[in-house]
Amino acid sequence: MPLTTYWLEHAWLGANVEPGVALDVSTGGSTAGPGFGDGRVSAVRTGVDTPPPGAVVLRGLTVPGLANAHSHAFHRALRGTVQVGSGTFWTWREVMYTVAQRLTPDTYFALARAVYAEMALAGITSVGEFHYLHHAPGGTPYADPNAMGEALIAAAADAGIRITLLDTAYLSSGFGAAPEHHQLRFTDGTADAWAERVERLKDRDGVRIGAAIHSVRAVPADQLATVARWARDREAPLHVHLSEQTAENDACLAAHGMTPTQLLAEHGVLGARTTGVHNTHLTDGDIALLGSSTTGTCMCPTTERDLADGIGPAVALQRAGSPLSLGSDSHAVIDLLEEARAMELNERLRTRTRGHWTAAALLRAATADGHAALGWADAGTLEAGALADFTTIALDSVRTAGPVPRLAAETAVFAASAADVRHTVVAGRHVVRDGAHSSVPDVARALADSIAALRG
Ligand SMILES: [Zn+2]
Repeated sequence: MPLTTYWLEHAWLGANVEPGVALDVSTGGSTAGPGFGDGRVSAVRTGVDTPPPGAVVLRGLTVPGLANAHSHAFHRALRGTVQVGSGTFWTWREVMYTVAQRLTPDTYFALARAVYAEMALAGITSVGEFHYLHHAPGGTPYADPNAMGEALIAAAADAGIRITLLDTAYLSSGFGAAPEHHQLRFTDGTADAWAERVERLKDRDGVRIGAAIHSVRAVPADQLATVARWARDREAPLHVHLSEQTAENDACLAAHGMTPTQLLAEHGVLGARTTGVHNTHLTDGDIALLGSSTTGTCMCPTTERDLADGIGPAVALQRAGSPLSLGSDSHAVIDLLEEARAMELNERLRTRTRGHWTAAALLRAATADGHAALGWADAGTLEAGALADFTTIALDSVRTAGPVPRLAAETAVFAASAADVRHTVVAGRHVVRDGAHSSVPDVARALADSIAALRG
């Protein structure tokens, strides 16, 4: 089996930064076409002061590949355009719906390919796509009822990153009310019909199929267990937007006499393979339920601040036992390092004290715990046997030059940006080399063209 050796000038090995690390990566075996193959780390050697002959040299700080645990690819088309005027999450949502109306499988493929290429440039090696745009306008299924999901899967393959397609049940406009006009594209009618459609999607090279409940607004209580059971039977990840807005909590209390978290617990949705996205407005009882069930928390702080959602109780959740992952969600920006530092900086503003999250804890959220939330238990670490996914951050840019290498993880989390990502390697393949994407030559142009095509 062919072996490639990467020499890492500095590497974050989970606890600290090591200088001079050689990674042996097996890249042979099942590689097929543009696919991923089974490139894995076969050995990690520390104390290697100079690059071994023939090694691929990665200068800077190499960390495990970043996991973007929550994405709606089409929201990228809203960037900038939603930054004028006032309003709330609910007025933003109306603008978002008008973009959703225009997408076809072809235009969604082009847009998502560009967005996932932007993610690769930002060091992201796996994306969790929370996908609910299933059908043609008006709700008519496409000839292939999974045409939109397959477009996203093909887009990720073209962009060279892994995808967990979190196929989302979205059945109601709120606590049993019929879907509104714009939501007809999202609904399968019932959770059983949702399950039947999703059953046709298959895991494959670089692809995991997972499930999502859009929210307790969008899936009636008596159908929550159907989605949970589908995920449990397949040991697949299950994600759910949870208490992003106080209005959702109020409506849930009015309809069911309990909080959204309590409702999910009641219907068997919580557990170690489940991730609550946002978890912003929780009671102490909710935090205890999420923590004791080891349900994950995916925070999306750049979106949460963009949409004026509020700051979730991430520290309390972590202490209670809920592992943290991170997502760029609406793609106001795509920068997992920015998401990571926002976790600590939000807490500083709220508490007027420092030191709630270490750089190591935030990197773990962006790597190992993020991958676990997406069903990639064997990614997100630099160790023998792990998938060979990693990201190199420059330490000699204007943003990162200066600190001693020992503090490179702190520099990466608190000062670097997506623009400092120099290399992205997925399954041992060099997807981004020296800041350039290997299969999407002009990512900015691809973004501009695919977004312009939606303006009509
Ligand atoms: Zn979302």
